[in-house]
Amino acid sequence: MSSKTSNLIESVVNNGLCTGCGICESIVPKGALEMALNAEGFLRPKIQTATDFGDDATIRDVCPGVRVDHGVLKTDYHAIWGPLVAVRTGHAADNEIRQRGSSGGVISALAVYLLEHSLVDFVAHIAVSQDDPLRNELQLSRTRDDVLRAAGSRYAPSAPLNALRELLDRGERFAFIGKPCDIATLRRYARHDARVDKLIPYMLSFMCAGIPSIKGTYELLEKLGVGRSQLKSFHYRGDGWPGMAKAITQEDQVFEMDYNSSWGNVLNRHLQFRCKICPDGTGEFADVVCADAWYGKDGYPDFTEREGRSLVLSRTPQGESLIQAALKSEAIRAETLPVDDIALMQPYQVNRKKMVLGRLLATWLARGQAPRYKRLGLLRASLTANPIDWLRSACGTFLRAKGEKQ
Ligand SMILES: Cc1cc2nc3c(=O)[nH]c(=O)nc-3n(C[C@H](O)[C@H](O)[C@H](O)COP(=O)(O)OP(=O)(O)OC[C@H]3O[C@@H](n4cnc5c(N)ncnc54)[C@H](O)[C@@H]3O)c2cc1C
Repeated sequence: MSSKTSNLIESVVNNGLCTGCGICESIVPKGALEMALNAEGFLRPKIQTATDFGDDATIRDVCPGVRVDHGVLKTDYHAIWGPLVAVRTGHAADNEIRQRGSSGGVISALAVYLLEHSLVDFVAHIAVSQDDPLRNELQLSRTRDDVLRAAGSRYAPSAPLNALRELLDRGERFAFIGKPCDIATLRRYARHDARVDKLIPYMLSFMCAGIPSIKGTYELLEKLGVGRSQLKSFHYRGDGWPGMAKAITQEDQVFEMDYNSSWGNVLNRHLQFRCKICPDGTGEFADVVCADAWYGKDGYPDFTEREGRSLVLSRTPQGESLIQAALKSEAIRAETLPVDDIALMQPYQVNRKKMVLGRLLATWLARGQAPRYKRLGLLRASLTANPIDWLRSACGTFLRAKGEKQ
């Protein structure tokens, strides 16, 4: 690997700016680096060989640890919610998909719709590994059953872009489902490889509060009293809304924890640093993005178990055509939601977008390096924040950036 490129990757990783998406593995020559869990429990590029291979222009342009950029900012861009074509709440019409999905199963229902109407040959997304109940891996789904196997959020590191080049080399059309940072990177990579726009007609995402280290999962298992070696399967969510974290042992014993305790008290305390300065928790680069359409109680999301309901945002005309077609063929059911009501369901994401500019500046000050975020409405969002909260959040990030590594 050219020293320029390995220096760039190392500086992104060492400054805690890597999202773990895996695009670098796909760009460098095969075998030059591999995404692997590091000591902190996050997926990071591990340089394998000293192969020399030209310069780092592509990685520098697409790595989300270096930049996130809309390219062109449309005039109707919403400073908090980004590009919006339509806003709805809804759920999969098929009850099994609704039950298995994280919220209302809309992402899985759209994936099944795309496959069953031959609009794509496969869906590339994250599922649990066949060999290890705790490992996430890329799955190519070609059937409804495949899609259902991958339904539900997996709150642990995933690197769905690490085999992008091999996927494109197949020459088949596919839909891609990933975290917001994966989709932002894929859109950017389309500038370097024309096959992305040709072969990936649909990019779907979900709102994301951040990726916890696999150590968060280990802590959860400890709290449940289940040894890792005893595990047969482990689900973070699904089977209801929000659904329980569920560990099943090889002896078929079942151990469960509710969402509020698993996410709120354990997993979200293990987030990687880059997620704390993320400008795009809401999947602004996707065609369609889904989230939990939480019902409110006393101004906070209410996590009482109910039938699943998703917030569904169409962000591009292509995404909106898909939603309309899926509604027409009764793959999903949905109703329109006023834009202002999104904030009632996703208050955390509102706060995050308002604070991120301060957090970014704090990172620059503390580490001398931070990603470039362009055309994401960050200044406009900041101006709507309470100045004291904004400063407090920036100072908190400064201290964290000085103290934390990853
Ligand atoms: C790390 C993480 C953080 C999240 N934070 C929020 C949040 O702050 N607010 C919110 O409303 N929603 C959040 N979600 C999303 C939410 O849990 C639901 O996924 C979303 O509401 C869509 O539900 P669904 O029923 O339509 O999806 P489903 O039909 O269950 O489909 C989920 C899809 O997500 C993919 N997926 C699951 N885990 C991962 C992963 N680790 N990496 C990449 N792809 C994955 C699966 O392959 C599947 O296709 C988060 C999800 C994850 C994985």
